[in-house]
Amino acid sequence: MSSVVQVEYVGDLAPYDEEEAALAAAGATLTVVRAADADALVAAAHDADVVWLEWTPHLTRDVLARLPRLGLGIRWGVGYDQFDVAAATELGIAIANAPSYCTEDVAEHALALILALSRQVVHRDRQGQQGLWRHGPAVQRRLAGSTVGVVGLGRIGSRVARIASAFGAEVVGYDPVAAAVDAPVRRVDLDDLLRSADIVTVHVPLTDATHHLLDTDTLALLQPHALVVNTSRGGVIRQAALVEALDAGRLGGAALDVFEREPLPADNPLRGRDNVVLTPHEGANSPQALRDLRREVVDATVEWLRTGWTGSIVNPAVRAHARGLAGIR
Ligand code: NAD
Repeated sequence: MSSVVQVEYVGDLAPYDEEEAALAAAGATLTVVRAADADALVAAAHDADVVWLEWTPHLTRDVLARLPRLGLGIRWGVGYDQFDVAAATELGIAIANAPSYCTEDVAEHALALILALSRQVVHRDRQGQQGLWRHGPAVQRRLAGSTVGVVGLGRIGSRVARIASAFGAEVVGYDPVAAAVDAPVRRVDLDDLLRSADIVTVHVPLTDATHHLLDTDTLALLQPHALVVNTSRGGVIRQAALVEALDAGRLGGAALDVFEREPLPADNPLRGRDNVVLTPHEGANSPQALRDLRREVVDATVEWLRTGWTGSIVNPAVRAHARGLAGIR
């Protein structure tokens, strides 16, 4: 039998009856663990052929090197910055994600945040709840006719571009990697995007190249009324620089689903502002997304168990020397 170890986060994916049945049919067992730290993960997954990871602990080079049987690591999600992919590739370990389960959800969430900011929905709701009527100047902005800058034109970014365009926005986009993009977007470089956008929405993976992509210098290019929306990864925006820009009135507002430190600490300076909307990393969530997530993770695992490969592997360079399973190496 092959061994799949599920490293749980808060236990909200349990029970795993369908996953267990699908794995059993492919000759594998499922063991569910919680791991407080790297050592606990190594102890629990020492004999695993496959590890499923929700959030933590991260599979660093050190952790991966201590998992001698591991052939496949799968992230329960789109982003896979929890894995040291370069180290995994060197070690012959394939890494996969669930690439498309929440494209619609995160795109809709980004649009919800864009509208919440531009129409001041949260701020005005607070006033409505307090009984304040037509209170303060009307500084809502119209999305139709605005310029929306989409950073990262992959699945989610291009979906956002299509929806924003349907609202009547002009969409500009920056992505130095994507070749063709199926969306009504004018490709520009990052500086031009930041200078021209009324709203910037970020949809890149967290990598060395995108870490603090929006920092003091890049945020300084924005117009003072510009709104920044981030549903990708907190580390793409340097929070200190964002707070500085908000404090100085050099930015119209920000709406964030993701943060450099999660959960967001109680004393975080982003809290308590009328022009900031914070959602606790909820962008991907819906019953439909959860169903699709489970299917993507299980299908990829079963395919890998049966054939030694699956389409959602993000480090295809590993193929030539992949560890695989003993029987199908
Ligand atoms: P994707 O892989 O389809 O698209 C990412 C795009 O970013 C690609 O087109 C790539 O070329 C581009 N890119 C890479 N480096 C870049 C750079 N330096 N500058 C500009 N563009 C760059 O991924 P996706 O499905 O669109 O998801 C995007 C990100 O959203 C994920 O990596 C993940 O971190 C995040 N995400 C967050 C949630 C959430 O719950 N908030 C859910 C799903 C995904």
